[in-house]
Amino acid sequence: MLGRGYRAVLLDIDNTIRARDTHQVPRDVGLWLGRARTAGVDFCLVSNNWHSDVYQFAGELELPIVAKAMKPVPASFMVALRKLKAPRSEAVVVGDQLATDVLGAHLAGLPAYMLQPLVEQDLPHTLLLRNAERVILGDRKPEPAVHMRQAGDELAASCAPAGAGSPSSSE
Ligand SMILES: [Mg+2]
Repeated sequence: MLGRGYRAVLLDIDNTIRARDTHQVPRDVGLWLGRARTAGVDFCLVSNNWHSDVYQFAGELELPIVAKAMKPVPASFMVALRKLKAPRSEAVVVGDQLATDVLGAHLAGLPAYMLQPLVEQDLPHTLLLRNAERVILGDRKPEPAVHMRQAGDELAASCAPAGAGSPSSSE
């Protein structure tokens, strides 16, 4: 991610980093977040969720949040960029929905990574939208979360200071 010049990630919550059904953050996702933050990537949560518990969730992760975002309306992404003091050219949106995350990103002039939802369970209107997304995506498939972990590994490797060796190095 840093290798591509992205230093700011505008991150969806539900079914992107937190399972919609259990509200758990999978270990892989937590590790990815931690690695990326250590490497200097800034995150801002951008969620359409309007429940107060998302603010608590953001607090636990110590991340800024724009909730009730009304994605795909692009305004929330602009607010998030301002929170991170990040230019559009260094930001990317990561989410699990074409109709909100990806469309909103593109309306805001931002690139987007679309991930497979963490779990099948979702809100009724979201499930309806997913059927439409399948038609639009055709043979193209969103990235599974395991690719995020690989991306995190690459990120950590690419961010190691010159000459410092990798974190796993025993030298
Ligand atoms: Mg989502």
